[in-house]
Amino acid sequence: MISIYDWNLEKLQTIVENLGFKKYNGEQILRWLYQSRVDSFDKMSNLSLPLRETLKSSFSIDLPKVVKKQVASDGTIKFLLELEDKRCVETVIMRYVYGNAVCVSSQVGCNMGCSFCASGLLKKVRDLQVHEMVGQILVAQQELDKTNERVSHVVVMGIGEPFDNYENVMNFIYIINEAKGLAIGARHISVSTSGIVPKIKALINEKLQINLAVSLHAPNDTIRDKIMKINHVYNMETLKEALIEYETKTNRRVTFEYLLLDGINDSSENAYELAAYLKDTCCYVNLIPYNAVSENIYKRSSEKNINNFYNILKKEKINVTIRREFGNDIDAACGQLRAKSEGKS
Ligand code: SF4
Repeated sequence: MISIYDWNLEKLQTIVENLGFKKYNGEQILRWLYQSRVDSFDKMSNLSLPLRETLKSSFSIDLPKVVKKQVASDGTIKFLLELEDKRCVETVIMRYVYGNAVCVSSQVGCNMGCSFCASGLLKKVRDLQVHEMVGQILVAQQELDKTNERVSHVVVMGIGEPFDNYENVMNFIYIINEAKGLAIGARHISVSTSGIVPKIKALINEKLQINLAVSLHAPNDTIRDKIMKINHVYNMETLKEALIEYETKTNRRVTFEYLLLDGINDSSENAYELAAYLKDTCCYVNLIPYNAVSENIYKRSSEKNINNFYNILKKEKINVTIRREFGNDIDAACGQLRAKSEGKS
């Protein structure tokens, strides 16, 4: 059955009109779903009985099922969610001083094959549908409702490559951004790609002021070729050209994610090389200390190397931060909880 969470306001209005009801019923339904967050059509008390019955027979209102929930001492909450076909994805609530960010998965598994990634251990099974991403936000929001908090930020950085599921991810973002619904501001929404260049160019033309993050993780093609297969298709020069076009046309700054892997990409030379690569961009670099996954060979960089790398970028006048770590006492690495549930970690 089609999910009611697949549709934005405009589409809901068209659907109810096509079913023989009034256009304004579309907005009423949207408010019930995203502001009141009811779990059944029967609770939509200002809709007529015939409309409620029609909705019941035409659409599903179910959310993903929480099969596991881990709460870390820093307040991070990680969910393992089961979808209609029993496949599982992960969703994480991260606590910041400025609000609650939810990290959303966009695919079941991932085909990009980054060698350091727990999600890449499980190949892509399928793309997530729009309602399955909306459902992740609503599950997180229901959890936050218990303490009268709200989802203030969304990062599409969980399992999957969002730009390998571009259309569904964009439709999902338009729904959560809807002012009469969850109203999560576009500037509070970030999408992270491993570097699918044609979709970076497509994003330029979206009517959305969202943030773009790029998983770079290497200062040159030799290293990036080894750890990220995508680099064989779009190398670092091609990627940079697309990002400069993105920055020029949108006036928005790109964030580069850089995972520090011991002995692989964390030397002083690597830091200077990265600074040189980034010189023509008005970027921001997020250094990420690595969370080791038992299945691969990589180790976390030492504190000394992390700080040295950071200091060199600073000295080279690159905007840089070291990402705060979340949920260290739970299965914090992306895909780790799901991999464990499927016996791969
Ligand atoms: S890092 Fe991202 S793109 Fe790469 S395998 Fe993992 S989930 Fe996929």
